[in-house]
Amino acid sequence: MAKKKPLKKDRLAGNHRLPGERNQPFYVQAQQKKKGQPQKKKHPFGDGWELADQEEALPEGEYSAECSYLDEEGRGIIRIQGQKLAVDGVLPGELVTVAVSGRRRSHAKLVRVQKASPDRVSPKCPVFYLCGGCRLQHLSYDGQLMQKQRQVERLMKEHLDAGAKFYQILGMQDPWRYRNKSHATFSLNAKRQIIAGIYEENSHRVVAVDHCAIQDEKADEIVRSIRQIMKECKLMPYDEDSENGLLRHVLIRRGFQSGQIMVVLVTASMVFPARSRFVSLLREKHPEITTIVMNCNPRHTSMVLGEQERVLYGKGWIEDTLCGKTFRISSKSFYQVNPVQTEVLYTRALQMAGLSGREKVLDAYCGIGTISLIAADKAKEVIGVELNRDAVHDAIDNAKRNGVKNVRFYCDDAGRFMTEMAAREETVDVVLMDPPRSGSDEAFLQSVCRLKPKKVVYISCNPQTQKRDLKVLCAGGYQVKEIQPVDMFPQTAHCENICLLER
Ligand code: SAH
Repeated sequence: MAKKKPLKKDRLAGNHRLPGERNQPFYVQAQQKKKGQPQKKKHPFGDGWELADQEEALPEGEYSAECSYLDEEGRGIIRIQGQKLAVDGVLPGELVTVAVSGRRRSHAKLVRVQKASPDRVSPKCPVFYLCGGCRLQHLSYDGQLMQKQRQVERLMKEHLDAGAKFYQILGMQDPWRYRNKSHATFSLNAKRQIIAGIYEENSHRVVAVDHCAIQDEKADEIVRSIRQIMKECKLMPYDEDSENGLLRHVLIRRGFQSGQIMVVLVTASMVFPARSRFVSLLREKHPEITTIVMNCNPRHTSMVLGEQERVLYGKGWIEDTLCGKTFRISSKSFYQVNPVQTEVLYTRALQMAGLSGREKVLDAYCGIGTISLIAADKAKEVIGVELNRDAVHDAIDNAKRNGVKNVRFYCDDAGRFMTEMAAREETVDVVLMDPPRSGSDEAFLQSVCRLKPKKVVYISCNPQTQKRDLKVLCAGGYQVKEIQPVDMFPQTAHCENICLLER
């Protein structure tokens, strides 16, 4: 088999030898790197104790094991000779045969299910075992909800023990095709035909996907047309290794209520040959498309979108409606991907905030101002803070669009903004916070504790970082009163969770 050329980022980082480079043993550099670094890990009990080496790998081969629970990534946890291993495609209570491999660390792969869980179902998607997006498609939807409820229960144990109310997870009626945002990556297959799909898990190999079970059907159709139009316009997918070709990804957003569609073509360069032909062919095939944006991302990065943009057709944004308010959404702004459940999430979060109409509310990490504008009807005033400039533009526009006057938006880091507010000794009655998966930060959380709002409603798409952040808030005088999981991402292992904290 021909050897694959290393990625440019690896070549630049010196991880690979270039042709003609001298044959140096790799360990020379490794030893040099070690210089000055502590050789031995300090033991927490002090000197005289030795930390055991990492667990030794198990002898390779097949083993039988029972799965005890699912981890946060949706992998089944099994134990073999005392070693804990996470295995894809295995469910709690199942007896399975796994193949163990790995010389330094053991990895286990499912070979056979000996005794299946009553909740096991056959996955709808043909690339379920390659994609890694929908980790729980082999589990019935009721089983998925149960798993997520248990996951939150495990993470929030100390607050539940301290008396927090724990509500039943809010699931979906129809847990398929719920995403309003679709993403496809383009590549060439072995026969040099253009394929569109997703990256295989932990790799940069594209797996062709024609129909995704959680994405919008219309979006799948547009992606298939784009593949055809690329052929007609002789436009090649971008190849990270050779740096040839143009089209990297396509993002499609559809307003489920408005029906408006935005297509974002992510290219490796601003030079787009046959651009007008491409756009007119796409519009001819799909007159329902509202706007087409070209986004240029020339960097070697796992980020999909780049900085530079050019609107090729339409206004460059679409509108959608949530909880009776209309929102403008541009390509780089965050917008919740499951609009049906977003209404459930926002309604429940505001219910937990218990606004009376007299409060000053801070909506931190506010995105395009969705929660702020919906909360504004029930509060005296709302302040929204958000780091992404495009999202703040959208938020300001959205306030005007909906005639909401008691809201102000600021473009700033939420932590810095809150620290300054605390320094000015300003007051807020309720803080609504909805940070990204990485969670909030010390500056923000400490400032909340200094500002002392009566209530904090913490919405999180990652209960693990939420748990970490709750520690800081609880140390600062807050107590978790209510916990409400919401299933925003059916078929995947991700879980959304709302916590209400009071002083
Ligand atoms: N509440 C919004 C957005 C939630 S997503 C909604 O429901 O639609 C999290 C948002 O936090 C994103 O818009 C992201 O741009 C923003 N963000 C990330 N880091 C931030 C920071 N340090 N300060 C302020 N906003 C941040």
